Amino acid sequence: MTILRKLSGFRTFALLSSVVLLAGIVGIGVTLKTTVDYLLYWDATASAESWARYVAENVADIEDIADGEQPSAESMKFFIRTQQIRNVFGFEIINLYGNVQLASDGSKISSIGGAIHDETAARVAKLDRPIIAVKEGIPPLRPRNYSEAYLPVVIDGRPRAVVVAYVDLTDQHDHFRSAFLIAAVALCLLSGAGVSIPTIAWHRRTKEKQRADQRIQFLARHDALTGLANRNLLIENMDMAFATLPLRGNSIAIHFIDLDHFKGINDSLGHDAGDFLLKTAAERLCAVTRLSDEVARFGGDEFVVLQSDVIDKEEAEKFALRLVAALAKPVQFNEHEINASVSLGFALAPADGSNSERLLKCADLALYQAKADGRNCVRGFLPEMDATLRARIELEKTIRNAVNHDNFELYYQPIFEIVDRRLIGFEALIRLRAEDGSLLPPLLFMPVAEELHLIDKIGAWVLREACRTAATWPKHLTVAVNVSVAQFEAGGISKIVAAALEETGLEPNRLELEITESLLLGDNESVMTELYTLKATGVRIVMDDFGTGYSSLSYLWRFPFDKIKIDQSFMLGLDRSGRDAETIVKTIIALGRELHMRVTVEGVETAKQVSFLDEVKGDQAQGFFFGRPVASFDVAAVILSDFQRSRMEPTQLAGSDAKLRLIK
Ligand code: C2E
Ligand code: MG
Ligand code: MG
Repeated sequence: MTILRKLSGFRTFALLSSVVLLAGIVGIGVTLKTTVDYLLYWDATASAESWARYVAENVADIEDIADGEQPSAESMKFFIRTQQIRNVFGFEIINLYGNVQLASDGSKISSIGGAIHDETAARVAKLDRPIIAVKEGIPPLRPRNYSEAYLPVVIDGRPRAVVVAYVDLTDQHDHFRSAFLIAAVALCLLSGAGVSIPTIAWHRRTKEKQRADQRIQFLARHDALTGLANRNLLIENMDMAFATLPLRGNSIAIHFIDLDHFKGINDSLGHDAGDFLLKTAAERLCAVTRLSDEVARFGGDEFVVLQSDVIDKEEAEKFALRLVAALAKPVQFNEHEINASVSLGFALAPADGSNSERLLKCADLALYQAKADGRNCVRGFLPEMDATLRARIELEKTIRNAVNHDNFELYYQPIFEIVDRRLIGFEALIRLRAEDGSLLPPLLFMPVAEELHLIDKIGAWVLREACRTAATWPKHLTVAVNVSVAQFEAGGISKIVAAALEETGLEPNRLELEITESLLLGDNESVMTELYTLKATGVRIVMDDFGTGYSSLSYLWRFPFDKIKIDQSFMLGLDRSGRDAETIVKTIIALGRELHMRVTVEGVETAKQVSFLDEVKGDQAQGFFFGRPVASFDVAAVILSDFQRSRMEPTQLAGSDAKLRLIK
């Protein structure tokens, strides 16, 4: 198809060029002939007229000769001389009635005595006007190009005779023709260039446009990085496979593949490594599949394989394991060896789903299960997963609805100074109200919201709402807002924060932004710029959940955090494994002190944990022991309780756990 299109484009171009060339050649030919004839005519006229004048001036007895007299000896001498000059190779002297009296053929002069009648001469005499014709002769009888000029000889204003001069124009003809030919060829080349340059430019543009169109068409159905089919093309092929499924009797299978921890690889080794890994994965998938199968990339690190003609679930599982094995082989990128494991979920049609959308959902659910089972494994779809699918669809609907109608709720968990149990602020924690009225925790719906690319919208709402609420609190209280990586990735976070502060009138130093280590994983300059911009406005930046994930101390010197929050898992560990957790918490507190960063311990649930924190002189604490997250209208009670307690004597405050419980 493409070759045919190319050929037809080429044919059009060749045809067009030939037409232009032919028109140019014909044009030159016609113009050449017309111009040379015209120039010859004028040259012949000038030569003949001057010759006739010359004869009239020098032959005194011209009238007598025309009347049939013999020329005088002098005139005869003149004629003999004249016939050698000015290219006149012959002449005739004719009387006014057209009777030829004297004729010269260039070599001899003969007296005709009026025996020959020349009608043209009679007409010239009558009209008193010359008649000149340019003719072509056959050498040696006549020159190749000559003129035949009939000229009246006028003496004293009256025609006396007619002379016919035969002038050889061969030289002039050749001269004119070659001069004009050169000019015409030059002109032709110029106009050729004038036509061909735009034609070539047009042809090139058309070609470029064709190529761009083909690229657009390709990209509409393929993934730009790997060249694999994209979602659209895969669904087209699936639809086709579904249409022929009853005829073939066999099944088809969809394998949904996700590279485990791809984001971490991308962030730590850079996007080039990520791209290389994706391209290698694509090549390996193509290598282990048949031509009748289709490999697609759905974006990110998600690959989907359509397996055609599958007998049963067992065969599909074997195929899935082959895919996983191919992808699990190490990938060498520069000096790095990347060992990426994969999770795979598969589903069969018609058993699991009877249309493309449904089958993809089933395979996606199976993948979801594989991930939930610890990744690096294969899971086939099971009907029980359907309930999960329905719950997921329901959740997606609830999230979208909440985004459209600002239907989220913020709960606020108090944070206390450990030394004097003073309330210093709250952390805003998002909740989603489900259809049945229950409150969903963020860990349940935020990952789904992230998949739906709604995190930045939700984050902006949280910021506005938290600032608006905190602005109504006493001025010494701060509000901490969790900011996710996706919000930084969406860009403009510092502007969104500035707008929220401006809109609500909250002082910047009362706002704390909690980020996690994963934000600093890649050496991302734009993230750093945003963080420094935010800090410059007076907002405080907090490292949340410290001690989990990658736990690299380097993050602490890469950015001057105002506060570190020790992840709640350490308090849990304190109860379970004792000394190790204690040592780590103590070390982080000491580290924070050295780096002039405040340290908040999260997940403080028991009196034992509190006394440990008292002992190690921790800065701040947050946890169920001090207070659970409460709705915004309950915040006032927490503040009031803190106010009442702060009016107690310090001695009363020390170890006043019973009093603190009042605010829970
Ligand atoms: P986080 O920022 O570390 O928030 C603290 C989480 O620990 C909260 O869970 C809180 O309810 C819980 N928690 C507090 N004290 C205790 C305790 O003593 N024991 C136990 N077991 N848990 C305690 P929650 O509200 O479910 O939030 C979970 C995570 O969701 C948060 O962890 C945060 O990373 C994220 N999150 C919450 N709200 C938002 C938000 O508005 N935006 C973003 N991007 N993430 C949010
Ligand atoms: Mg937090
Ligand atoms: Mg935390």
